[in-house]
Amino acid sequence: MHDGRGATSVDVLIVGAGFAGIGMGIQLARRGRESFVIIEQAEDVGGTWRDNRYPGVSCDIPSHLYSFSFRPNPGWSRVFAEGREIHDYLRACVRGEGLDEHLLLNCALEEAAWRDADARWRVRTTQGDFSAANLVIATGRLSEPKLPLIKNLDGFGGRWWHSARWNAKVSLVGKRVGLVGTGASAIQILPRLAAEASEIAVFQRSAPYILPRGDREYSREEMERFAADPGTVSALRDELFAEAEKNIGARQRRHPDIDLLRQRALDHLTAEVPDPGMRHLLSPDYEIGCKRILFSDDYYAALQLDHVTLEPTPLARIADGSGTTGDRGSRTAMAASGNSYELDVLVLATGFNSTRPSIAGHIRGRRSRLLSDEWSNGMAAHASTTVHGFPNMYVLDGPNAALGHNSAIYMIETQVGYVLSALDHLAVSGADALDVTAEAVRSYMRDIDKMAHDTVWVQGGCTSWYRDERTGRVTLLWPNSAESFRDRLATFAPASYEHLRVGVV
Ligand code: NAP
Repeated sequence: MHDGRGATSVDVLIVGAGFAGIGMGIQLARRGRESFVIIEQAEDVGGTWRDNRYPGVSCDIPSHLYSFSFRPNPGWSRVFAEGREIHDYLRACVRGEGLDEHLLLNCALEEAAWRDADARWRVRTTQGDFSAANLVIATGRLSEPKLPLIKNLDGFGGRWWHSARWNAKVSLVGKRVGLVGTGASAIQILPRLAAEASEIAVFQRSAPYILPRGDREYSREEMERFAADPGTVSALRDELFAEAEKNIGARQRRHPDIDLLRQRALDHLTAEVPDPGMRHLLSPDYEIGCKRILFSDDYYAALQLDHVTLEPTPLARIADGSGTTGDRGSRTAMAASGNSYELDVLVLATGFNSTRPSIAGHIRGRRSRLLSDEWSNGMAAHASTTVHGFPNMYVLDGPNAALGHNSAIYMIETQVGYVLSALDHLAVSGADALDVTAEAVRSYMRDIDKMAHDTVWVQGGCTSWYRDERTGRVTLLWPNSAESFRDRLATFAPASYEHLRVGVV
C-alpha cells in the first residue's frame, strides 16, 4: 500500500534481520494484526551468525537455550552449536514462519524521520521510501567491528582483517599470523588457526577468565527423544536457564558465589597450564565476571604449542610486514628482535563498537533531533526499549538489554513481548503515538545505576563493552537477573508515555 506520496505504508518497519528482527517478525506474523516489513542491509538474514564466519565460531550458550522458546529445535547437533548451524536455524525460522514475503534484503536504512503531522515515521532506504506507524530498531550491538588504534595499520605489507569479516580466500597454511585480542572470538579462533599457521603471535592486552566448556554432540537417541516429545526440549531449556541464572550471584559479588566461580576458573588454568611463568601471564588482574567469562577446553592447550607465542603486550605499530609491541621478550624464533614479529597476516579479534551505534546518526525524532545527539552522553532508554522524543520507536538488543550470564534470546523475547503490549495499548488508547516521558527514562536509568553499582561490572576493576567509555556507566548490560528483566517488562505502564494525537503537538 502507498501513502499517496510514493512511500509504502506499513504498521511496523523492522530494521535488521538478526535474532531480534526475526523474533519480532515471527510474533507479528503469528498474530496477523499488523502489516510489517523487515529491512536488512546485507544479502542474507542471520545478523552476527551471518557475519562471523571465522574458523571455530560457535556459541557459548547452550543451543537449546540460545534459540527461540516459541520455535524449539530438537535437532541441535551438539550442546554448543557452531555458527553455521545457528545461521541455518535462523534461515529455517524465516522460511518456516513465512517471513520471506516481509523481508527486503540488500535494503539499507538511509534515514528515518518522525513526523508529528501524520504521527508516522518516514523511512528512506536504498530500496525506496516507507511510511511506518512504528519503527523497531533491531540492528544489534555487536555488528560494527572495532579496529584497534595500531599505528600504520594501512602500511602493513601483509593482509589483515577483523574477526567478523573473515577473509576465507587467504589460506593460512604455513603463514605467520598475528592474533590481536583475547576475547570470546579470539579464543575460539586460536585453536583452529594453530592447526594451519606456521607461527602465531597472540597479542594479549588483558588475560581473560576461562571456564571449561564441556561441549559434546547429542546422540541420535537424544535427538529422537527431543523430536518425539517437545516436553523434553522445554524441560531441558528450563533446566539450562535455571543453571545459568544461578550465576547472577557472583556478578553481584555475593559470597561464596564469586569465590567459587573464581576458583573454578583458576583451577582450570592450573590444570591446563603447568608452567608458572605462563600461568602468571594468563592470570587476570581484575575480578571474575567483570569482562565476559569465556568457555574453552582447547585455548590454553593451543597457547602452549611450540609455534604459538603469547605476547602479553598490545600490538603498537605495524610496518613492512612486522608488528611491534611494548618492551618484553618472546619465546620463538619468529620474534626477529625483542618484541617485533614478522607477520604475513594480522587477525584483529578486537571486538565491536557497542556504545555508539552508527544507526543512531540516521534517526531523527521529534523536532528533528538525532538519536545520536539524544545519546551523546551514552545510550539510555525506558524499559531498555523506548527513547524520549522518538515516538513509536522500539530498540531491541540496545541499551541495558545484554546479559553476561544467561541467554540473549530470553532478553529479546522479553522485549518483543513488551513491544506487542505497547502496540496493543496504542490500538485501544485512541492515541496515534506513544512517546515515553523524559522522567520515565531518567527514573529507569537511576534504577539501572543503582542495580549496577555494587556489581562486578562496576567494581571489578576492568573495562568492558558493557560500559560506556565516556561515563563509565553500564549502558549495554542489564545488571541483574534475566528473570528480573522479564518481571520488569511484564507490564506495560501507559502512565510512562505521553499519548500523542495527530495535529496536537
Ligand atoms: P571483545 O570481547 O570486546 O574482545 C576484544 C579483545 O580485543 C579483548 O581481549 C581486548 O582487550 C582486545 N583488544 C582490543 N583492542 C586492542 C588493542 N588495541 N590491542 C590489544 N588488544 C586489544 O570482542 P569479541 O571477542 O569479538 O567478543 C565480543 C562479544 O561478542 C563477546 O563478549 C560476546 O558477547 C560475543 N561473542 C560471543 C561468542 C559466543 O560464543 N557466544 C563468541 C564470540 C563473541 P581488553 O580486554 O584489554 O580490552
